[in-house]
Amino acid sequence: DDRIVVIGAGHAGGAVAGFLRQYGHQGPIALVGHEPLPPYQRPPLSKAWLKGEVEADDLLLKPLSWYAENHVDLMVDTGVTAIDRAARTVVTTDGQRLPYDRLILAMGARARSLAVPGASLPGVLSLRTAADAEALKQALIPGRRLVVVGGGYVGLEAAASARALGVDVVLIERETRLLARVASEPLSRFFHARHTAEGVEILTGVELAAVEGDGKVEAVLLSDGRRLACDAVLIGVGALPNDDLARACGMACADGVIVDSQARTDDPAVFAIGDVTRRPLPHHDLHARLESVPSALEQAKQAAAAILGRPAPSPETPWFWSDQYDLKLQIAGLPHGADRQVTRGDPSSGAFAIFHLKGDRILAVEAVNSPAAFMGARALIGAQAAVVAERLADPDHSMKAVAA
Ligand code: FAD
Repeated sequence: DDRIVVIGAGHAGGAVAGFLRQYGHQGPIALVGHEPLPPYQRPPLSKAWLKGEVEADDLLLKPLSWYAENHVDLMVDTGVTAIDRAARTVVTTDGQRLPYDRLILAMGARARSLAVPGASLPGVLSLRTAADAEALKQALIPGRRLVVVGGGYVGLEAAASARALGVDVVLIERETRLLARVASEPLSRFFHARHTAEGVEILTGVELAAVEGDGKVEAVLLSDGRRLACDAVLIGVGALPNDDLARACGMACADGVIVDSQARTDDPAVFAIGDVTRRPLPHHDLHARLESVPSALEQAKQAAAAILGRPAPSPETPWFWSDQYDLKLQIAGLPHGADRQVTRGDPSSGAFAIFHLKGDRILAVEAVNSPAAFMGARALIGAQAAVVAERLADPDHSMKAVAA
């Protein structure tokens, strides 16, 4: 049976090992990961785990015993340094050469850093790994002041968790609004208002110019000349794909490894899944990096099915979630190309949904504390069903009754 090597023991890598066994793969699987931990979930690192609501063990994707029981050779604390596609081997940091018949790239992404003076001072933190989260947790001391750089999901979730722990938070965002790349303007406004009400000081349209301190962080200097005293700085300015290995061996990459709708790369022996990929989007003539757990899981299924010659799973509507305070945000689809927005429910009530429509089709939904609107819209997006906008806007019509 084929020898399969998976590079990256994160969410996608752990999941694909599971699907390969579930779908009947009998041959050897090696799962090689840089981090010291078996595959774990990152979403709680900025949410429940940071607030101390769940334990580290709760983050594991599968219990450690699963790997031995399923004959998956889990190699933690081990990096892959090169891929030799001609010889079909990968080289590891401890000098091993692992042969493969099928290779799965699941190297994920890393936190973007900022090249400003003082960026390497102790107390300048990022949030991608469990080790990062541990360092951040140590810094979240009640009454201390955290500056969060970046108003994306990771920055906002960390800000909410820090407030819950009694930490003073100032959040700076270069754009004129929060979540500028990833959410609609009304949703940005809603989250801005809520964070402000929770005591987060939000400064938009301003950049981090420097971090200052003598041996540790003492202040940040902003692009408008303001100086803010603080005890720690969290840089949350997005992620970059770990596609260097793929680029170094000549695979097609463009800010991520390019894959098709079955996680195939331009090399028939190599698949790629998760945050490291630039993938096609169902119903859109677009490739994107989705950076979400549902996308990583979908691609893990695609790769396992393709390797085992099973029918391709049907395409899923992309979706994502974020938890901040008592708010559960759920997003499905992509709003690109929408020509109008319809809102269901009143944002001031804290429960509402914004639908993005093109003609009479829903392209995307952003739902806050409205799981029924989210689920209903996700199904309608997947079915590309026509809807009646007036019914969509009226919470008295159930989501089942909005189809035209
Ligand atoms: P990763 O989980 O990053 O795993 C990649 C692994 O590969 C890493 O362990 C890395 O060390 C390893 N690796 C890289 N290069 C090598 C190499 N050369 N050799 C060996 N190993 C290597 N998504 C959601 O859908 N909802 C959320 O609410 C959400 N919240 C998040 C909160 C935080 C704080 C973060 C950081 C992410 C969040 N995400 C969320 C995104 C989600 O965690 C990612 O989409 C998911 O982890 C992607 O899985 P992956 O396996 O592709 O990458």
